[in-house]
Amino acid sequence: TRQWRLASRPVGEPTHDNFELVTVDRPEPGPNEILVKTLYQSVDPYMRGRMRDAESYAEPWDVGDPMQASVVGEVLESNSAAFDEGDIVTGELLWAEHAVADAGDLQEVNPDHGPISTALGVLGMPGVTAYWGLNDVCEPMPGDTVVVSAAAGAVGSVVGQLAKLSGARVVGTAGSEAKVDWLTDDLGFDAAINYRETDDLSGAIDDACPDGVDCYFDNVGGPITDAVWPRLNVDARVAVCGQIALYNATDVPTGPRKLAKLIESRATVEGFLVSDYQQRWGQALKRLSRFVQNGDVQYREHVVEGFENAPDAFLGLFEGDNIGKQLVKVAEY
Ligand code: NDP
Repeated sequence: TRQWRLASRPVGEPTHDNFELVTVDRPEPGPNEILVKTLYQSVDPYMRGRMRDAESYAEPWDVGDPMQASVVGEVLESNSAAFDEGDIVTGELLWAEHAVADAGDLQEVNPDHGPISTALGVLGMPGVTAYWGLNDVCEPMPGDTVVVSAAAGAVGSVVGQLAKLSGARVVGTAGSEAKVDWLTDDLGFDAAINYRETDDLSGAIDDACPDGVDCYFDNVGGPITDAVWPRLNVDARVAVCGQIALYNATDVPTGPRKLAKLIESRATVEGFLVSDYQQRWGQALKRLSRFVQNGDVQYREHVVEGFENAPDAFLGLFEGDNIGKQLVKVAEY
């Protein structure tokens, strides 16, 4: 069986040289352990942080070790009463075709409830991030203007649709015309800005948000955030979810800019981590499942075929290759 290992730590943009594909013996499950065959593997922006040798909320990976990832897979062998052969499960396993996990670290995925891959996207960690980041931190009210960056991504696309359901006016930023079209034509965003084709980002935000910005769900940081902050209304809420524009930066050119705006707007800026929502995870998933079933929340997946292409899928996140959730299809279900 094959695994991807961290070959070296990236400096700046990660490259293929940072990954090594190795063939190892298929692991044997011990007592209370499960052998899982990976069907889908997730690649996520936070993994960039784990490639770095620095303290953060996710532990750094060691050079030479296999890397972790959320996967959806099939139980091949079970030494626990909790799972049977053939069950579909999800959990934090490895960038690997097969891996073993403690039964307590896996959750069952019911294939009758929809495509199993959604457990890594809209009905998984990114969906829960969108749900609690928006509802707990941004708290949009009907009539508010909500801006979300990386709006066509796994988290952002769900944020925008949930904000629409709460009665807000919703504006997204994204990096291509196809993304902008998806947001406005299919997902019901009131406006979307292709930041890569816009010379005057501040002007574009002004035009799209004539009444200013009440909530900003920030997935990217950098120049987009610089353009949004000056438009914050009094009592605006900023949910700092991610800063992907800075993840590959070797040095950050300035501190947070335009802080004076926070005085005038009395805005609240709050970072949050989805891992703090373990207790309310199920509540979010229940609501999201219902929204997906009745069509109120739509989703897309960008599926990269083949385990050998997992690094491409990861690197693609920084190029904006994905519309919706970026996934690797490792084996046929
Ligand atoms: P996405 O599906 O949104 O994929 C990443 C997207 O980021 C790309 O498609 C690209 O879209 C955009 N992007 C990449 N580089 C840049 C750049 N330099 N400037 C602007 N946009 C860029 O990923 P996720 O939905 O999984 O994650 C979104 C954000 O949320 C990330 O920052 C992630 O770290 C964070 N996150 C935080 C969590 C938390 O608990 N706080 C939990 C989960 C995610 P485009 O074409 O628009 O550029």
